[in-house]
Amino acid sequence: MSQRERRRPAHGRRHAARRGGPPGYTIRMPVAQFSAADASAALSVLIRNADLHAPQALGRCQVLVGGGRVLWIGPDDAPAPQIPGLQTVNAGGRRLIPGLIDAHAHVTGGGGEGGFATRVPPVPPSRFTAAGVTSVVGVLGTDDLARSPGELLAATYALREHGLSAWAWCGGYHVPPVTLTGSVRGDIAYLDPMIGVGELAISDHRSSQPTFDEFVRIASEAHVAGLMSGKAGVLHLHLGDGPRGLALVRRALDETELPARVFHPTHVNRRRGLFEEALDLARRGCWIDLTAFPVEEGEDAWSAPDAWERYHAAGGPPERLTISSDAGGCLPTFDHEGRMCRMDVGSAATLLETVRTLLARGHALEAVLPAFTSNIARLLRLPGKGELRAGFDADLVLLDADGHAADVMAGGVWHVRDGQVLKPGLFETPG
Ligand SMILES: [Zn+2]
Repeated sequence: MSQRERRRPAHGRRHAARRGGPPGYTIRMPVAQFSAADASAALSVLIRNADLHAPQALGRCQVLVGGGRVLWIGPDDAPAPQIPGLQTVNAGGRRLIPGLIDAHAHVTGGGGEGGFATRVPPVPPSRFTAAGVTSVVGVLGTDDLARSPGELLAATYALREHGLSAWAWCGGYHVPPVTLTGSVRGDIAYLDPMIGVGELAISDHRSSQPTFDEFVRIASEAHVAGLMSGKAGVLHLHLGDGPRGLALVRRALDETELPARVFHPTHVNRRRGLFEEALDLARRGCWIDLTAFPVEEGEDAWSAPDAWERYHAAGGPPERLTISSDAGGCLPTFDHEGRMCRMDVGSAATLLETVRTLLARGHALEAVLPAFTSNIARLLRLPGKGELRAGFDADLVLLDADGHAADVMAGGVWHVRDGQVLKPGLFETPG
């Protein structure tokens, strides 16, 4: 969660689930039908005539998908393998990209910093798919009291049942981190979706004001659990506006044996000085995460596109920059007494919005995509994610001419076609 104001309106012309409506919930179909295994729905599809960015630009290609995986990729004029029942989709030359990975989303809903009535509801699944996001890492934030690790895991499993790929950060803002097994190490080692700990808050009035010893103890638990389980074992850090910035991370790199990759600070574009500190850490081996929140004229912050440009212009290692959305999180503004006076809610749609802005500024899609796909997949050790190549998961997005997600496939199943959500969540009103 961050302290930004207002977000730009989501692109409401397409597929965002409607809010409001009649009192109560509309159940769209029999529950048994809704929860039927999707494996049978994973089609064999040949996507022809696609301008493939995998994320590297590969030109006009065909992509064969079957059993939820990418089976084969070849030039558009090559003879494609034949499979009985194969459907062919002509992409019409549109850009085909890997499904985006949103590594910081409040899937349970975040907020609650202005009273219990300000708790944000859970994010409906189509808010991700309609935004081209096929992999999500859920997070607890300020409210890791009334929101629990069990609730976070349930929301993560619900996204998986819906057909997305989903993981979670254990803990929340505070120290000691909230856990299910009694330790960060146990949660990461024993609970399948838990891949690291976060968003632990530092340099923020909402943090637990962790000491250096507490801080590196938690980082070490994440690291060791990652070694044991083959998971990322990363400490994902919420950065506030405080002047201490990233001092704790610098000291950890100076004084401990922990590898730099263990520390993954987010919201680092919220303050310009903080961004410079983060750039130094990236040079020392950390992955740093931008948040795609809106930034107003004259604010002491960089928008995600501005920060992306400054990072690359400064020679930051291109493979160590990631961008997340803070979807479902509260974007509050606090007064000088620390009371929340305004809030808005983060949206996964800001990721593709960031892509579109960078493309409009003349950057190549293959240069822009890694921060949303391959870079974060590598840091989080997500197998089969972040790239489109044979053997990888069939998570893909066809962009329309404007750069919106026209068609979205997750795990070999279409969730969005021609800008229409095919698979809304059980409680979503048809969009
Ligand atoms: Zn945060």
